[in-house]
Amino acid sequence: MSNLEPDPDEVRCRVIDMGEPPVPVTLDPRLVPLGGPRAMTVRRTLPHRNIRTIGAWCFIDDYGPTAQTDPPMDVRPHPHMGLQTVSWLLSGRIEHRDSTGGYGLVNPGELNLMTAGRGIAHSEYATQAVGLRGVQMWIALPESARDAHAHFAQHVDLPVTTLPASGGSVTVTVFIGEFAGVISPAHTYSPLIGAQLEASAPTRLSVPLRPEFEYGVLALDHPLNVDGVHIEAGAMRYLGWGAETLSIEWTQPGPALLIGGEPLTEQLVMWWNFVGRSHEDIAAAREQWESGDRFGRVVGDANTPLPAPPLPQVRLRARPGRQ
Ligand code: MN
Repeated sequence: MSNLEPDPDEVRCRVIDMGEPPVPVTLDPRLVPLGGPRAMTVRRTLPHRNIRTIGAWCFIDDYGPTAQTDPPMDVRPHPHMGLQTVSWLLSGRIEHRDSTGGYGLVNPGELNLMTAGRGIAHSEYATQAVGLRGVQMWIALPESARDAHAHFAQHVDLPVTTLPASGGSVTVTVFIGEFAGVISPAHTYSPLIGAQLEASAPTRLSVPLRPEFEYGVLALDHPLNVDGVHIEAGAMRYLGWGAETLSIEWTQPGPALLIGGEPLTEQLVMWWNFVGRSHEDIAAAREQWESGDRFGRVVGDANTPLPAPPLPQVRLRARPGRQ
């Protein structure tokens, strides 16, 4: 998936002050109408005006389920830089192709992980118009891996464990990192966790945390109570770092996402589908996408690539906030 906003902002993420742990806060989603061929509206919780990143997680779009009246998800070739894309579906199926020759169908409960490194181009098409439901996430690559070799990995057999919880159980699928004694085979470049927690019934679970990680819990189909705080479906509860446990209460059976990681200590600049370190990085990547080199051509996709939007006219300064 892609950021298809017609006029995306340039978002700066300042280095985090690792002093006092931040106060937990609810991140209500921003409804973002995506332009171009995929005109659906997504629920974006990262980057948020208050919280730009959680660990190296830097972008979270929750979307669907698509209805008959929605346009099919149809994202023609477009570039990425400086990040990994994490494609996670709850229903439906997406066909992926990229400029390294990578090909895969994304199915619910399976992980497609694309490492852009210095540059990659890919395309994504839903195989059916109705019932697509998923979460598109990006992980910022640290400085040491910014120019990593672009590659695509598919993990169809992720580790799953079932935890007893009051009144039911919670099935945990770990797609990134280690949680509850199981380890995802996916390769990332900084310490991270990403897991889906699916409750079988209304239930409450005490979740063990790593104090050096900051965390977020995303309510997907239903509201949740996170550490006793009610959040609506589509919202994220940001928990900061320093805690050793967290409580999640489901009032209805269903899924939630847990993400986390060690707070980033590098400044990022995000714009469109790129993560860089400066406005100049972003401008250069945009120019190199438009001129046709650097990112390559998507193998097996003859569709016209998506043009880059215009750069913001005014170079944005770092916004006030935690980071
Ligand atoms: Mn994309």
